[in-house]
Amino acid sequence: MNQSAPIIVKVVVDRPLNDAFDYLWNSATLGAKPEIGMLVEVPFGRTNLIGLIIEVSSYTQINQTKLKNVLQVAPLIPLDSRLMQLGYFASQYYIHGLGETLISAIPKWWRTSTHWNKPLQQLIAKERATAQSNSKKKIAQNQLNEEQTHAIQILSNHQAGTFNTYLLNGVTGSGKTAVYLTFIESLLKLDRGAQALIMLPEINLTPQLQRRIQEHFPEENLAILHSGLTEKQRGIAWHQAMTGAARIVLGTRLSIMTPLPKLVAIIVDEENDSSFKQQEGLGYSARDLAIWRAKNERLPIILVSATPSSQTWHAVKEGRYQEIRLTNRVGGFQSPSVELVSPDKSSGSITINSKMISALEDNLHKNRQSLILINRRGMAPVITCLSCGWLSECNNCSSYMVMHRQLGHFKSPMMCCHHCGKVKTIPQRCALCGDADLQPLGRGTQKIEDQLQTLFPEAKVLRVDADTARTSKKSEALFEEIHDGSAQIIVGTQMLAKGHDYQNIGLVCVLDADARLYSNDYMAPEHLFAQLVQVAGRAGRFSGEPTQILIETRYPNDPVYQYIKKFDLVGFMENLMLTRQEAGLPPFGYQALVHAEAKQRQEVLAWLNHTKEYLQSIADTQAGITIFDPVPKSIARLGGWERSQLLIESRQRGPLQALLSALDQYLRERSVGRISKISKVRWSIERDPLII
Ligand code: ADP
Ligand code: ZN
Ligand code: ZN
Repeated sequence: MNQSAPIIVKVVVDRPLNDAFDYLWNSATLGAKPEIGMLVEVPFGRTNLIGLIIEVSSYTQINQTKLKNVLQVAPLIPLDSRLMQLGYFASQYYIHGLGETLISAIPKWWRTSTHWNKPLQQLIAKERATAQSNSKKKIAQNQLNEEQTHAIQILSNHQAGTFNTYLLNGVTGSGKTAVYLTFIESLLKLDRGAQALIMLPEINLTPQLQRRIQEHFPEENLAILHSGLTEKQRGIAWHQAMTGAARIVLGTRLSIMTPLPKLVAIIVDEENDSSFKQQEGLGYSARDLAIWRAKNERLPIILVSATPSSQTWHAVKEGRYQEIRLTNRVGGFQSPSVELVSPDKSSGSITINSKMISALEDNLHKNRQSLILINRRGMAPVITCLSCGWLSECNNCSSYMVMHRQLGHFKSPMMCCHHCGKVKTIPQRCALCGDADLQPLGRGTQKIEDQLQTLFPEAKVLRVDADTARTSKKSEALFEEIHDGSAQIIVGTQMLAKGHDYQNIGLVCVLDADARLYSNDYMAPEHLFAQLVQVAGRAGRFSGEPTQILIETRYPNDPVYQYIKKFDLVGFMENLMLTRQEAGLPPFGYQALVHAEAKQRQEVLAWLNHTKEYLQSIADTQAGITIFDPVPKSIARLGGWERSQLLIESRQRGPLQALLSALDQYLRERSVGRISKISKVRWSIERDPLII
């Protein structure tokens, strides 16, 4: 009998596995030809899983009678080869399974096969509705100033079909956004199908930029992608991007893996922001993947920042990226003056510096708004017993439970662990000595809010932190109160500082800045400097009076503070690069971490020591690789898990990559997924960690 050759597809699934699995493709039932990049449903063990076709062939090593059939195909355009290449790269570089990497980048809505049978018409009708809801009003755009025009000239010299990385470096309010929107406009005009991707670090910044993009491109369909959307909204936006219906995609880090058939440019705004680094699972840097994608697809990519990351700075110095600088604030607004103040010695009931209080008073009289920044939410970071020194430690974690005046639906004071989320009532008496003298120690946003409201009863004090801005709706409402001027004093965490274009801030006070500086994180000075510049940039977006930034510190001589006083980015970066170079730290070297956790500390350390021995046995010592001893993490216990890590440093990327691939294979052979077979230790490997 003349039987035609079977069609075999190789499928990867969303599991921590490196292998692809063979399935039979039955064209009669599936009604389509298999293609690489198709999303399918396949039987897997006792369940069905979503998978992605990575190869089509007529050959299999497995006995054909044992092969199972592909069950269903998603009604989607197959992922294109460039996106698949990005997935292969990310999977290799970040030591993550190919299936996990590619499939987890697809919105959940499409990973649910019950959605595949719903008539697509409905979805498309919905898409049209979204497209039409874009504002059609044409808002006149500002005439670009001289510096901005110069920046556009440089960008317009970009040769289509070539890769280049630009750094658009300019103080906040220098008109960087206007520059990149104008650049995108010119590209979209050239080609009616062209698409641009704009990436932002935070969800709560998108509504504002979204408005600006809609005003700039009233006729274009904009798709928004971030994790704050419903699954369906995200599914629709992603689909619009994939079909080319959306011309501009605005998204957070997860948007870097969006299929965009006619992508012509990528923008990474606030490129230095650590939110571009994913911490869990595929530990990718969306900025780094964006650069890789731009190179692979031969596109221009613009990194945008007022305080470029050390990595980007280094690349500019080496001539790999091209810097475009904007030096003046639009409208000629003055840069604010920075003053360092030391904390008040007297520890009265008011914990705000007296200098800050009088500055607040002045600023209120001038009808300007004030920002008070403190990076700690809640009432007080810890509760203590005045007689025996007991502290409110969390049972699950090596950290303290934070006192909250109220928390979610609890109206009375509670304590909460910010690491594992455990919430408890505050004990009446000390658990150790029985004394009733329990006191909150230190200060958080709630305490500062209370104290300011007491000091300035006439003023409206607004608190913006993860507790008050829990949903994007709530946070939008809070930011509206700042923009429309109804709040006079705004207390909040760093979410206040990012990107917002406030119009009337005359004073910024930064509390507890030192807490960020003296941690064991080598990136801390870089991050603090960036944060201070950013928060300073919120002030003085009006002409006339000078504005003031007051920073509370016990270490005024630290380089971070000395350079911020002069607003000297170049000086700070040059100094920073010297210290990094001397220590062989990134960007002058490369790092990776092996993370491990188990219920018992001994088990974790033993497992890591064994891993270290293995690494030493295979590492090329000539290549400048250093393998450090395992150490507990700074939060050594989290949710009842003991956590430790092992650091690997290397002078070059290549040998480190080879070492990690070998390690991954070695560990996988001894694990089920990423859990060690013998000791049940959970492990993962992280490239380019931000915190070590
Ligand atoms: P950045 O992105 O550098 O912080 P923006 O592009 O957001 O700066 O510009 C800051 C403010 O100045 C915005 O309100 C913007 O609308 C306005 N702006 C930008 N360029 C101009 C210009 N050429 N003329 C007038 N206003 C401008
Ligand atoms: Zn006690
Ligand atoms: Zn905890």
